[in-house]
Amino acid sequence: AVRTGAADVGSLLGSVNQLFEEALYVGDLQTLTTEADARAIPTGGADLPERPDAIHVENVSFTYPGRTAPSLDKVSLVVPTGKIVALVGDNGAGKSTLARLLCGLYQPDSGTIRWDGVDTATADRAQQFASTVLLPQDFFHWPLTLRAIVTPGRPGHHDDAQTLAEAAEFAGMEHLLQQQDRGWDTLAAKGFEGGVDFSGGQWQRIGTARTYLRATTTGTDGRRPFLVIADEPTSALDPAAEVRAFDNLRRLAAEGATVLLITHRLAASASADLIYVLKDGRLVEQGTHEELMAVGADEDRPAAGSYRTAYLLQARQYAAELP
Ligand code: ATP
Repeated sequence: AVRTGAADVGSLLGSVNQLFEEALYVGDLQTLTTEADARAIPTGGADLPERPDAIHVENVSFTYPGRTAPSLDKVSLVVPTGKIVALVGDNGAGKSTLARLLCGLYQPDSGTIRWDGVDTATADRAQQFASTVLLPQDFFHWPLTLRAIVTPGRPGHHDDAQTLAEAAEFAGMEHLLQQQDRGWDTLAAKGFEGGVDFSGGQWQRIGTARTYLRATTTGTDGRRPFLVIADEPTSALDPAAEVRAFDNLRRLAAEGATVLLITHRLAASASADLIYVLKDGRLVEQGTHEELMAVGADEDRPAAGSYRTAYLLQARQYAAELP
C-alpha cells in the first residue's frame, strides 16, 4: 500500500509538471516569467531546418518519471511535411505522449527524433518551439482577456482587428464574441472574480483561434511553424463546428503545414494522407485509410485489422443513430 501511495504521488507530480510544461508551451514561453523561460528553453544547440522534408521518429521509447511501464515502446514512424497525418488508437495508447515528444516537451529515453538529419535532442529548443504548434487536449484556461489568449506572445505577432477577425472566423468564435458586451476584451476565467467561463466547446474554439494565429504568423525570428499538432481538437464541438474544424485543418495543410491530428473520430482520420495506429505504446498499423481497411484479421498479428474493426464499429454506431 505504501508503494502504491508513493507511485500515486509520483504520477500526480508528473501530471502537474506536464500541465505546467504544456501551459508554458501553449503560453509560448516568452510571455511567462524569465525563470520559467530559462527552465523551459535552453538555447543553443544545433540549428533546426525551418521546414524539413520530414520528421523521423526512430525506435523511440519513453517512460514517464515515476512510472515503470513505458508509454512509448520502440516507436518508428515518419511524418512527411505538408501532409495530414492521423494518430489514432485506444485510450492510453501513447498518442498525447508522442505529441509531447514531437514538441520537445520531453526527450526520448532512447531512440531519436530527427528533423531531416538533425537530432532534436541536441537542437536549439527555442527554434523547435517556434516551429511547432500544439493544441493540447485540455486547453489551459488562462485568466486573461480573449484577445490576450488568442494572440500568441511571440515577437512579430499582431492583435489588430483584421487579424483577430480572421482567427475568429477560422475558429467559429463569432457568435461567442457577439454574446459578450466587451468582445475581445472579455476577461475569461473559471472561478475568477469578474471573469467569464465558457463551455468545453467554446474553450476549444478559443484554443483553435490561438492555434490558427500561431500557425499562420511568421515570428521576428523568421520562423513560421510547419508542424501543427491538434490533440482531439473537436471532442467537445457540435457536428457543424466539427466539420468546419476538419475543413480548416485541411486548409492549413494545403498552405504547407504538417497537421498531426490525434483523434478518436475515424471518419475524420479516413481523409488523412497517412494514418498511424498506436496500441499500448507500440505502433501496430500504418497506411492510408484504404490500405488499412483492406487488412484482414490475422491470427498471428492480433493488432492487424484493429483500425478496420474500430472503423466499422464506429460506422455502424453512427448509422444506428440516424433516424
Ligand atoms: P487518450 O486517447 O486517452 O488521450 P493517449 O493515447 O493520448 O490516450 P497518453 O496520454 O499518451 O495516451 O498516455 C499513454 C500512457 O502514459 C498511459 O498509460 C498514461 O497513463 C501514461 N501517462 C500519460 N501522461 C502521464 C504523466 N504525465 N505521468 C505519468 N503517466 C502518464
